[in-house]
Amino acid sequence: MKLQKYKRDSEVSYAMGATLVAELLKTNRAAIRRVFLRPTEKRGEDLEKILTELKLHSIEIIETTKAFNILGAKDNCLLAAEFIKQNRPLTDGNHIILVNPSDAGNLGTIIRTAVAFGFTNLAIITPAVDPYDPKVVRASMGALFHLNVMQYASIEDYQEAHGKRKLYAFMLDENAQKLKETRPEEPYALVFGNEAAGLPKDFAVKTGAQAVFIPQSEMVDSLNLSIAAGIAMHYFSSLG
Ligand code: SAM
Repeated sequence: MKLQKYKRDSEVSYAMGATLVAELLKTNRAAIRRVFLRPTEKRGEDLEKILTELKLHSIEIIETTKAFNILGAKDNCLLAAEFIKQNRPLTDGNHIILVNPSDAGNLGTIIRTAVAFGFTNLAIITPAVDPYDPKVVRASMGALFHLNVMQYASIEDYQEAHGKRKLYAFMLDENAQKLKETRPEEPYALVFGNEAAGLPKDFAVKTGAQAVFIPQSEMVDSLNLSIAAGIAMHYFSSLG
């Protein structure tokens, strides 16, 4: 069994934990290459059910502790699936754009929230955290498998690929339009900046975006990226 720690340039990634393996089985079974099972005497009913289904579809199950050590899994992680990474092109619906997101937990949380509110297209402007990093897959709780994700080297590349759709750029600018005064023009893209740097000050002018501000107390510098994205996605999806 040849197995290495996850690398960004690898053609495979890992879904760690029974819940994620079950989600992958439901949404994209063909992408599963093999599954690792930690030797244990305590297999619950849910785990047995997943194993039965894996066997039904002739998916290789390898009983090993070593794989979990190599992948840096927690002791309570009993199942992990190796799956082939697939970039699925964005469709014509509404998009989420993250400019240089750097934190795996934030990216996974945004993916989970996006899918919860009906957004299934995510554009990532690089450099950025790898959307297939097992930490992102884990934080998304498998929502990544429901999403079309594409990476672009710049916002200009994104705009060239998707035409001049309406962009709403979420910015720390008190002169920007307040969220509750914003009326979505579809199809649109909601744009969020990096955790530390935010979006460049001239982003709205340069891209033709409508700048949007979520009113907040002056006692904090800003909202956390994933919280701001969650509030924005909830607002826009409730009006769509
Ligand atoms: N110091 C950074 C700045 O000046 O933008 C803070 C970045 S903030 C942690 C990350 C992203 O969350 C921002 O780029 C923006 O897209 C979004 N965000 C956070 N708070 C926001 C607010 N009150 N209104 C609009 N967007 C917000």
